[in-house]
Amino acid sequence: MNFSQIPGQKEIIGKLIRSVKEERVSHAQLFAGNEGCGSMALALAYARYISCEDRSDHDSCGKCKSCVKYEKMIHPDLHFVFPVIKGKKATDPVSDNYIEEWREFVSKSPFFTINDWLDFIEVGNAQGMIFASEASEIIRKLSLKTFESDFKIMIIWLPEKMHQATSNKLLKMIEEPPEKTLFLLVSDEPDKVIPTIQSRCQLVRIPAFSDSEVENYLIKRFAITKEKAADISHVANGNLIRAIELCENESSSLDNLDRFKNLMRFAWKRDVISLIN
Ligand SMILES: [Zn+2]
Repeated sequence: MNFSQIPGQKEIIGKLIRSVKEERVSHAQLFAGNEGCGSMALALAYARYISCEDRSDHDSCGKCKSCVKYEKMIHPDLHFVFPVIKGKKATDPVSDNYIEEWREFVSKSPFFTINDWLDFIEVGNAQGMIFASEASEIIRKLSLKTFESDFKIMIIWLPEKMHQATSNKLLKMIEEPPEKTLFLLVSDEPDKVIPTIQSRCQLVRIPAFSDSEVENYLIKRFAITKEKAADISHVANGNLIRAIELCENESSSLDNLDRFKNLMRFAWKRDVISLIN
């Protein structure tokens, strides 16, 4: 994921790039925005830009050793923490139990919700959480020396799903950060992140995509008409994930509308047999 693959958010991208150029990258940042604003894509592109060995003024190079490993999300200085579930793989699960699935999932598209992720790992109705067991993993990973980059970067997706014990450990690390460590917290519901963590992170507030940004993205990705893209982006209200879902489900929505119309017609005619059928 690089910046040019994000369909908008030019102002935020400009700010992030400036922070690198001016060497004032804050060691703990909270990317906060509503679902579908592209916050995870921004965090991934930012981390890659920071680690790139040949970055331009606008983006990472995509070719250096770091970029190649970033593309596969296997860079040894890039760490992920994200909600997982108990039971399926471990009684005390940590993100690394699911890292293969995570890489595959994020590679498909950086625009997703917690439900998309839980569906992907097929957990039924289980609640995803960042469990207490993750705390010692975070400490272990960040106590390692950097392998290849100047920075170790830890992307924490949905810090609002973090167990209290993990939050406390993380808080300590944010207060006394290990050398050359960068925390990027990506939250859909920043108000639910514990206030002590919120207040110690630099807040990067991410607005929703504009209607025209969503529209252009849909036209490119789904090859739909401008009119249809405009309708969908209007309904999606800047939420790119919702817009993609609406596009993907459009045919089934139309089928359902037909079924509903028939249902109403049979009810009106009191045609009980057809209605039951
Ligand atoms: Zn590069």
